[in-house]
Amino acid sequence: MVKYHPDTRFLTDYAAGSLPEAQALCVASHLHYCAGCRLKIRELTALGTEIFLLQTPLAVSSADFELLLARVETLLHLAPVADSDPSGNKAESKAQSKQLASLPKPLQKLARGNLESLKWRRIGKSFRYSNLNIDPKRETTLFHIMAGCSVPHHRHRGDEITVVIKGSFSDHDDKYNTGDFIVRTAGEKHRPVASQDGDCLCLSTLDAPIVMSSWFYRVLQPLL
Ligand SMILES: [Zn+2]
Repeated sequence: MVKYHPDTRFLTDYAAGSLPEAQALCVASHLHYCAGCRLKIRELTALGTEIFLLQTPLAVSSADFELLLARVETLLHLAPVADSDPSGNKAESKAQSKQLASLPKPLQKLARGNLESLKWRRIGKSFRYSNLNIDPKRETTLFHIMAGCSVPHHRHRGDEITVVIKGSFSDHDDKYNTGDFIVRTAGEKHRPVASQDGDCLCLSTLDAPIVMSSWFYRVLQPLL
């Protein structure tokens, strides 16, 4: 059951198409799991259309039109999800397809047919992450915590959005389940721990790097 949702500002900006790409990816991922927010988006889109139709048409400059075309081109060039495995390993391919089919559509596109094809970096045996390189101003990652294990204790220097894609995790505040959209602000400290009953996969975007609490990880951080 999804408990944490994007606020009205996120949903309105998403419906208007004005939310920056990394945050929009988080909202789109949440919508995959949340019928309530999907309904709100439909209502906001209908309202936006009504307001748009009431506007007096304005002349658009050719430069603006070129920018719009470039944006459409970028969206069209997102690679389609691979629907077959060239290696011929059908069992593995079927398992990967099943795993991917349960993911939000934008993540399926980013994974290009296989989550394992992403470049993963490992911290210890229980935690790994993959940078998605969506926006140079933000750090957007998928992170994977093994069942019952934790992310090192850290503090936030900026805002962070996390969406639980698979499994669940807890910190000192609450337990977060698949689909939850969690916003952390600067100064907050926490140590997420994946539930014992399964691995946890999360999507996260932050506008300033986190600070590890342990001196060991602080020494390692520049290298990571
Ligand atoms: Zn929701």
